[in-house]
Amino acid sequence: MDWHLSIRDGCSPCACAKSSSDKDVILNILSVLTDLLSLGTGRRIQYVISKGGSEALLQALTTTAQTEPLDHSILLPLLRLLARVGQRDRKFGLKVQKAEATDTILSLARRSLGHHLHLTHCLWVLQVCASNVTTGTTLGINGAMELLFKVITPYSKRHIRTVRAAIEALAALLKSRSNSRRAVSRGYLGGLLRLYQDWHRNDVSNNYVYIRRGLLLCLKHITNIQLGRETFLFSKGMEILFTSVQDCLSCKNLDPIINTVIQILRKCYPKEPLPVATVRSSYSFPLPGNAKAEPPCEGSEGDYESDGEEEAEKDLDSEEEESKEEDYDLETDVNKLRSKAVLDRPEEELGQYKAMCPELSHNFQSLLSAPSHSIPNATSVKHPNYRLRNQSVTEMGPDPGEKDFKVPRQSWTNKEIHRWDQTDEKRDIAETAQDAHSCEDPARNHVLMLRPLPKDPAWYKKTFYPECEALINSSAGGSLDCSDIVTNLLEKHQGDIPFHSPHFYITRAKRVKSIPDYKDLAFPDFWGHQPPPYSKPMLERKYGVQRKSGIPHLIIFRDQRQPAIVILASIYCSHSSPGAPGCLTFFSKFESGNLRKAIQVREFEYDLIMNADVNSNQQHQWFYFEVRGMKLAVPYRFNIINCEKFNSQFNYGMQLVMYSVKEALQGRPRWLRAGHDICYYKNHYRCSATAGRGVKGNFYYTLTFSIKFPHKDDVCYLAYHYPYTYSTMMSHLDILERSRNPKKVYWRQQTLCQTLGGNLCPLLTITAMPESKKRDDLEQFCNRPYVFLVARVHPGESNASWVMKGTLEFLVSNDPIADLLRKCFIFKIVPMLNPDGVINGNHRCSLSGDDLNRQWLTPNSQLHPTIYHAKGLLYYLRSIGRAPLVFCDYHGHSQRKNVFLYGCSIKETLWQAGCMVDTAVITEDVGYRTLPKILDKVAPAFVMNSCSFLVEKSRESTARVVVWKEMGVLRSYTMESTYCGCSHGLYKVSQSFKEPCAGLQLGTQELEEMGSKFCLGLLILHLKSLPCSKKVMSQAALLLDLEEEITDRTQRSVIVVF
Ligand SMILES: [Zn+2]
Repeated sequence: MDWHLSIRDGCSPCACAKSSSDKDVILNILSVLTDLLSLGTGRRIQYVISKGGSEALLQALTTTAQTEPLDHSILLPLLRLLARVGQRDRKFGLKVQKAEATDTILSLARRSLGHHLHLTHCLWVLQVCASNVTTGTTLGINGAMELLFKVITPYSKRHIRTVRAAIEALAALLKSRSNSRRAVSRGYLGGLLRLYQDWHRNDVSNNYVYIRRGLLLCLKHITNIQLGRETFLFSKGMEILFTSVQDCLSCKNLDPIINTVIQILRKCYPKEPLPVATVRSSYSFPLPGNAKAEPPCEGSEGDYESDGEEEAEKDLDSEEEESKEEDYDLETDVNKLRSKAVLDRPEEELGQYKAMCPELSHNFQSLLSAPSHSIPNATSVKHPNYRLRNQSVTEMGPDPGEKDFKVPRQSWTNKEIHRWDQTDEKRDIAETAQDAHSCEDPARNHVLMLRPLPKDPAWYKKTFYPECEALINSSAGGSLDCSDIVTNLLEKHQGDIPFHSPHFYITRAKRVKSIPDYKDLAFPDFWGHQPPPYSKPMLERKYGVQRKSGIPHLIIFRDQRQPAIVILASIYCSHSSPGAPGCLTFFSKFESGNLRKAIQVREFEYDLIMNADVNSNQQHQWFYFEVRGMKLAVPYRFNIINCEKFNSQFNYGMQLVMYSVKEALQGRPRWLRAGHDICYYKNHYRCSATAGRGVKGNFYYTLTFSIKFPHKDDVCYLAYHYPYTYSTMMSHLDILERSRNPKKVYWRQQTLCQTLGGNLCPLLTITAMPESKKRDDLEQFCNRPYVFLVARVHPGESNASWVMKGTLEFLVSNDPIADLLRKCFIFKIVPMLNPDGVINGNHRCSLSGDDLNRQWLTPNSQLHPTIYHAKGLLYYLRSIGRAPLVFCDYHGHSQRKNVFLYGCSIKETLWQAGCMVDTAVITEDVGYRTLPKILDKVAPAFVMNSCSFLVEKSRESTARVVVWKEMGVLRSYTMESTYCGCSHGLYKVSQSFKEPCAGLQLGTQELEEMGSKFCLGLLILHLKSLPCSKKVMSQAALLLDLEEEITDRTQRSVIVVF
């Protein structure tokens, strides 16, 4: 075909079309063009556009339209081509303006009014012209809407193609706000509503869904303006649309109609502020220095919505959609992508981190005893007399310099380390408990108690603890100190949950510094969680769920709402008020708890409001609260009405988690996926302009779910995801340290720094003890490459902690693979980068109200101490030539399924961005792909296809990007674990189980497994990428057949219950 040739010769058919006057030639060219463009992908059209095709066709149109009489044999193919090319040409509207073709098109349409085929062609072009708002406005001013309205009214099924084209063109025109205003003032809104009713009534067999949808789109655009919404309400639009969808709800084919109706209804429903006095967090924390203080925001201003509320409605059904804008966010500046060894602080500051690498000192006498070092905090960094503390590795006595540092817990740290040498556990616990009291500020020395359990003897009858019942019966009037119950229960708790001890938990929890000053322990954290022996598949999304839950709140129950009963005024109440009889009672004032307010809206239905992150007025997503006083077999409905993310896996099969105390006492202590008829949707609450500043869209979303509790009058806990508190982690570390084999496992727990809230951020070093004290072995020990792991910078991502738990347990285990792995690497691990956030029930931020994973470029030593010092330690490792081989930051992902890695690649970023940079000049090691490829093979939940190695501008201050760029770590990753489940791999239930196939929801077991498989992946990476000693290789060969590792996964079986 000589098409390309002719273009290159500068003689394209388009170019010919405008100059040639020979009708046959033109017709031939048009027919060739039509044939060419109707085949294949959009590439040909794009090519035509890039060569000025749109302009040429418009020019031809203007010329043809001037000839009298009109030659429709040319006009029609020309219009068809214009419509086709115009659809793909993003600048088509502008080109139409430039060519001054709007009038031409309009007058052509007017002249064709009597001829439907001709008119339809004109309308197609009109529609693509209107895709540009300015052009659309011009067309509106010149009377395009009047013309279209005449075509579509009154209702008639004749010339259906023309009517459809007219409605679609009108919808396009109404995207212009001035056109919408014009349409309202001409009374078109009422006309459109009536027309929609007519079509709805007459289209009994649903043959004209596209027409009805087109009319709804017109209404949707008009109601984008305030005047449109007011007129819509005045014209009874709510009632008309609501009634019309009632008979559509069960029909799957009518989804486009129902979704559009719901969007319009939600938008037009009068907006309300959230039923709270202020949207700011109930907690605030005074920041050191003059750090930014958020202005107070009251949620009571009048206008909850600006006139210009453009509905950025994302289609809820397009799951895992990657924003198209992402490409624009890619970093394309090669200089910014290149690794740069910069330093964000004075070099001499790095010396302090030497103490955090005791493994590098050759003094093994000291390695075998416990080291201590100073805990950097905001004060120590600024301290003018700051000095290196590396000597403390060998010193055991108190350091005189200690007094200069405001670290009151220093002495405690020493005791802490020593106490595990004692063998008598009971004495040990008692002592540490005393320790905890003696070293704490006496003013804060409160008694931390387990949440009291019901004292009703009947409560214990069916449990396995008749002693409790006897105890209660014997006490006068049932007034029994609940600590007796707890003591009794604990005697029965025989440590049946691995790596958990209620004693250790309570000891650790007593030391926690929280802003609300917690006095209660939540039962699940205290008692422990044991994963169930089965996994649960994702919920199937039922048709109509979203509607049923979305609309009743807007319409059906609008006037039937009972007067709201506030049963928990705010979390300031130390004890929940009992509320009306039959009411549930709520409580959340415990570690990681988050619930601000509960409002009973119907007998078995509650609206719940989460608390914003401390020092913030946003970030509501994480919830964790206690509920009691339930009836048996009644489905309770909960609506969490101030969620913030625009979409959620709750719409794609995810359930929340529930823990029943009665179940736990009967031997089933576990968080389970629970809840049904779950839906997540945009609601009618709006954030006031001031409160929502800086927030993308001032919208709130509702998570609604029904739940049947397993027992009557139980104490149950509900949470967004499996909770994992700071105390859980600290007590877990205590147990890990005790459980390891000290002859084999080198383990050091130090403190990276103190947090703003005064809690300690632990730093772990794990590797294998040197084989012997021979020089070679010691050298091998010191020269092992580093792996640097961090987790839980985002407190709401508790899944990250469960993965980290799996990693840690594997690393200290007796598994021979772990043994070998320890001999290959030195692990530096910060298992919780944001302890304060976790403790205080935040979702995203630290006490400073900052997202700590956006602070890595220039962390502030006072405001972001954990990031500042983690980065400092990395700088130190780099400065001694020991930058880690692998860095990984564990996260949770709320929008996507599976587990996957984000990494960094210059080439892939530039390539994806379509950059014309000669990538040949950039040599890039593709080694960053090896680990995810290995994980794809060895970890059942991991999916390589979900990984991405693109560097986005908006992520430039995340751990992954900064460590990659500033520390030169090629394998710098973020590991994202879904909150939901898997759509690929082993945990996707095979087709034979169920149609359509649903994946499994991840439980803690699968998350922990991911953590241990990550370790296995590291070992294989080492074997593949690094020079290994013969010894290591032969050991590895004994342990794992690499090929087998790869095929093995398909043979394992998963137990599934439905
Ligand atoms: Zn995260």
